Amino acid sequence: VNELARASLLAAELRALEVDWLLVSTPVNVRYLTGYSGSNGLALIAAGERADSPPKHRFFTDFRYATQSAEQVPDGFEREIAPAELLEAAARALGSGGSEGERTLGFDDASLTVKQHHRLRELLAPGWELVPCAGVIERLREVKDQQEVARIRAACALADAALTETLEAGVVGRTERELAIELELRMRRLGAQAPSFPSIVASGEHGALPHAEPRDVSITRGVLVTIDWGAYLDGYCSDCTRTYATGPLDQEASAVYELVLGAQEAALAAVRAGVGGREVDGVARSIIEQAGYAEHFGHGVGHGVGMEIHEAPRLSRTAGEEPLRAGNIVTVEPGVYVPGRLGVRIEDLAVVGDSGHERLTSLEKGLTMLD
Ligand code: ZN
Ligand code: ZN
Repeated sequence: VNELARASLLAAELRALEVDWLLVSTPVNVRYLTGYSGSNGLALIAAGERADSPPKHRFFTDFRYATQSAEQVPDGFEREIAPAELLEAAARALGSGGSEGERTLGFDDASLTVKQHHRLRELLAPGWELVPCAGVIERLREVKDQQEVARIRAACALADAALTETLEAGVVGRTERELAIELELRMRRLGAQAPSFPSIVASGEHGALPHAEPRDVSITRGVLVTIDWGAYLDGYCSDCTRTYATGPLDQEASAVYELVLGAQEAALAAVRAGVGGREVDGVARSIIEQAGYAEHFGHGVGHGVGMEIHEAPRLSRTAGEEPLRAGNIVTVEPGVYVPGRLGVRIEDLAVVGDSGHERLTSLEKGLTMLD
C-alpha cells in the first residue's frame, strides 16, 4: 500500500530527528499518510526502533467516519473511534512519558493552533516533550510516487478535455464568468470533485491582472483571453494556463504572445533533476528582460503541484539552492502583464525526470484564434 510506504519513509525521517512519534493533524497530510479523506481525523506515526520492525501507527476519527475509515485506512494503522476529542484520544494512546528520560512527540507547528498546542500540553502525561516538526511531511510530498503521478496525469487530461469542450461553442459575446462557470461544470461532469482553484478567465486589459476574477463582461473580438484552470480529482490537482486570441491582434499583443511562448518553451526545456528552481526561473526571465518587459513579469516562473495547488518546490528568483528532484511535479508559467492593456500567461505542468521532463498538460501552445 502506498500510504504505508509513505509512513515508513516518514518513520525513517523521524528516527533521524530523534522524534518518537509524530502527530499528524493537517487533513491533507492525514490523507497522504493514511488514505483517509474525511474531515475529522488524526494520525500518530511511530518512528519505531528500527526499519525492520515496523511499529503500529495509529489513526483516530469519530463515529461518523467509522465505515469510511475502515475502508480507507490500511491495516498498518491501529484505528480508534474516539468518543470525544481526538487530541485526548491521541494523548491517552501515547500513555506515560516514561521515567527514564523524556519521550518526544513531533507536531506541525505551521498548522496546529496555539490553542490546540496548549490543549495538547495539558493532555500529555509528564515526560513528553513537544518538538516542532513543520515541513517534514511536505518535504516527502515534493517527490511523487507512481500512483500520484498517475492521478495528476488524469486530472490534467480531464481539465484539458473540459476546456476543449467549453471552447467549441466559441467565446466572443459570452462573458468571462459564463465561460468560467461552464468550464467548472464540465470538469465536474467529467468526474472532477471540484475545480482545483477558482478558474481565471480574463480578456483584454483584464488579462493584465495575474489573478483576475472573471467579470460579467462580454469577451470582444481581437483581444487576448487568458484562461487558468485545473481539476481536483482523487485528491490531486491539475494546473494549466492558455492564452487565446479572438481574431487578429494588434502588433504588441502578438509580439507579447510570441515572447511569452518562447520564454515558456525555453524554461520548460530546462526542467530536469539537478537544475535549480532559480535557474529555470532565470531562463524565462532573461528572455523577457531582453525584450524590455522585465517589470511586467512580477511572479515566479512556477511552483509544485500535488494534493495542494501550490506546493514546494518553488521556481522563482527567491527559490532556495536545492535542485529539482526526479518525481517533483512543477508548473512552468511565465507571463507578461501590461497594465491597462493586456496580459499573456502560458502554463504547463510537468513531471521532473533524471534527464528531462514529461509534460502532463497537452493542449496546443501556438497562438490559436477562437470565434
Ligand atoms: Zn495556473
Ligand atoms: Zn500555477
